Amino acid sequence: MEFDRRGFLKIAGLSVLGLAAKPGWEVVSKVKPVETLPAPSPFAGKKWGMVIDLKKCWGKEDCTECIDACHRIHNVPNFGNIKDEIKWLWSVPYDRAFPEHVNEYGDQDLKRKPVILLCNQCDDPPCVRYCPTRATWKREDGIVMIDFHRCIGCRYCMAGCPYGSRSFNWKDPRPFIQKVNVEFPTRTKGVVEKCNFCEERLIQGLIPACVEACKEKALIFGDLNDPESRVRKALKSNHILQRQVELGTKPKVFYIA
Ligand code: SF4
Repeated sequence: MEFDRRGFLKIAGLSVLGLAAKPGWEVVSKVKPVETLPAPSPFAGKKWGMVIDLKKCWGKEDCTECIDACHRIHNVPNFGNIKDEIKWLWSVPYDRAFPEHVNEYGDQDLKRKPVILLCNQCDDPPCVRYCPTRATWKREDGIVMIDFHRCIGCRYCMAGCPYGSRSFNWKDPRPFIQKVNVEFPTRTKGVVEKCNFCEERLIQGLIPACVEACKEKALIFGDLNDPESRVRKALKSNHILQRQVELGTKPKVFYIA
């Protein structure tokens, strides 16, 4: 992949002219297409998506099994403070995840219920447009990837993501990994990271670690292009929420609430 210097300078120029005062994804979408590269051949024709059944999730109070499993296998460090936090999967109260779906007359307890968040693997991902080095790209099966070696740590992708789904390693993460999983790369200081829908497990015929870890079966993963898949059936038979769909990013993580 070639360094897209012209696109980068064009974006930087727009920022200088003050056009970046508009929502970032609006500016960048006019100058840079989303990079889409082939997925591994077994995934040809597929588009991965996830459904999170919040009612099942709320059935087990203070459960963090999905987060723990994800962070354990992906060598996510624990710096012990919010400022440096690296998160692939995390939880926020309902009123922060879906502020447009709460009202002062509704169920007040609902506001505080936890909602699991992760990269939405957007079908039109602004983070990909923002990246000046093509260190992040969308695969044809919909997974938004990061090449940790190509990342220069400029954090443009983080500015582009409206969901806060990307984290930056301000420090060397390696001393803060509880037990290193040698089958997955560790990262270095100055690199951005996020959920990858467990692409390294999918290629081995496994489901994502979070889905496997959830004993409540609250997480459903599968091919959105297959009408017979569990995700498609769940989407068909339930009332579904998505985060900030009005932005046009087309999230592929859906919520049953
Ligand atoms: Fe990119 Fe953020 Fe969408 Fe994930 S949620 S694909 S990081 S814009």
